[in-house]
Amino acid sequence: MKAVKTYDVIIIGAGPAGIFTALELADKGFHILMIEKGQDIRERIATSRNPHALVKDKVRNVVCGWGGAGAFSDGKLTLTTEFGGNLDDYMSKADLADKTQYVDSVYCKFGGADRKVYGDESRDSIHQLQRKAAAADLRFIPARIRHLGTDVNAQILTNMRDFLEGKVDIMADTMAEHIVIEDNTVQGVMIHGQLYRCHYLVSAPGREGSEWFVQEVEKLGLQLTSNAVDIGVRVEMPAEILETITDVVYESKLIYFSKSFDDRIRTFCMNPYGFVVEENNDSLLTVNGHSYAHKRSENTNFAILVSKKFTQPFHEPIKYGKYIANLANILGGGIIVQRLGDFLDGRRSTPERIKRGLVRPTFPEATPGDLSLVLPYRHMMDIKEMLEALDKIAPGANSRHTLLYGVEVKFYSNRLELSPHLETKIPNFFAIGDGAGITRGLVQSSATGAIVGQEILSRES
Ligand SMILES: Cc1cc2nc3c(=O)[nH]c(=O)nc-3n(C[C@H](O)[C@H](O)[C@H](O)COP(=O)(O)OP(=O)(O)OC[C@H]3O[C@@H](n4cnc5c(N)ncnc54)[C@H](O)[C@@H]3O)c2cc1C
Repeated sequence: MKAVKTYDVIIIGAGPAGIFTALELADKGFHILMIEKGQDIRERIATSRNPHALVKDKVRNVVCGWGGAGAFSDGKLTLTTEFGGNLDDYMSKADLADKTQYVDSVYCKFGGADRKVYGDESRDSIHQLQRKAAAADLRFIPARIRHLGTDVNAQILTNMRDFLEGKVDIMADTMAEHIVIEDNTVQGVMIHGQLYRCHYLVSAPGREGSEWFVQEVEKLGLQLTSNAVDIGVRVEMPAEILETITDVVYESKLIYFSKSFDDRIRTFCMNPYGFVVEENNDSLLTVNGHSYAHKRSENTNFAILVSKKFTQPFHEPIKYGKYIANLANILGGGIIVQRLGDFLDGRRSTPERIKRGLVRPTFPEATPGDLSLVLPYRHMMDIKEMLEALDKIAPGANSRHTLLYGVEVKFYSNRLELSPHLETKIPNFFAIGDGAGITRGLVQSSATGAIVGQEILSRES
């Protein structure tokens, strides 16, 4: 097949994983192409701020475009090896700690250096929290977190984009249609029906692009294993209730095993003084949250997630999660909000009941409704038990006024068999970031990009 153009490296996806590969290789004599199906960073920010932008563009814009899924995120850099992905399956904890530090230094170089790192405070406060949590049947995992904030995060991504200008060809608003491999050898990528040839192919399509990626790799006969699916709600309450935790560690990772089902339940993505937001996964609306560096609400939000891994004969956790999210979309036209008191009493929340509540929703567009019509019984019981346990270390968390938004679903892409260099069974074809099912956060996805960039560099030097 005749190629339109030939590159040394083609990177699919301009999320943190793809960007970090480009940052490693830029200025090193490589001819590089980045393909991103969403908008470039400045257009993307403009769309997000434009009240007249088309709904379909706004929706797609949330997770697609330069900066990927995290572009409008809270920008919490998890500087611990305990969560944020499974990279410790590919390297030692010590190596992962080094990579984490390196990634943090790059975010600092591009504008994050002034942002506070939480969790460095005295061991005493952390130990005290751990003791309180243990007494409440909770496991508290302390984490070092650098909080960039949505605004600073967007600036850092813009700075990275500007740095790469002229060093890398960037095709935004462009979909990689197919990955082309012949005789176990990378040929390139089809774009607009034409072949763009390359020697190294780095696929970093994120969660949003994972279905496309799975289809592509299945055609190539590569092996995939399914991950768990995490389903739950986003919880919102007055920020003061969680201050004893958030002032010390910013984000608390708490793990609980329910008495009813022995399910593993965890808190996730805590946003002190933050805002609840809608996330669009290919027109499926789920809930999420974030907070700014320079703008505060009066509430803190976080997710309570129940992790479920399926065994025989069912092996489609993503389908299961989508089914439940879809139910919420059908009933609520999108995100449903319910007061905890109504949830426990088995009645729907109404606009009047929400208005009478003590917690003012930061996502008022959510439809007051009944999450018990959406969530499986075991998930409801798990969430109830988790809030009861949490109340023991943060009194007030289990208040009837606490708001539950649903549903929050974390889909993890199926996992591809990869080498420690994150190379597939096909030489010079790498798969990285959330789309490869090996990461779940900014730091580890960025780290995968850096690993592959450095590997390509070492092969060519
Ligand atoms: C609302 C929200 C808040 C978050 N907050 C945090 C946080 O505070 N801290 C944290 O650590 N993590 C957070 N995350 C998770 C984090 O954003 C992701 O883990 C990270 O962005 C994954 O990086 P990635 O490069 O693997 O994929 P992505 O960031 O998803 O990037 C993939 C890119 O590939 C593009 N793409 C897909 N398919 C194709 C194709 N065929 N052709 C061309 N382009 C394609 C997509 O448009 C996308 O831009 C958040 C996520 C969301 C959605």
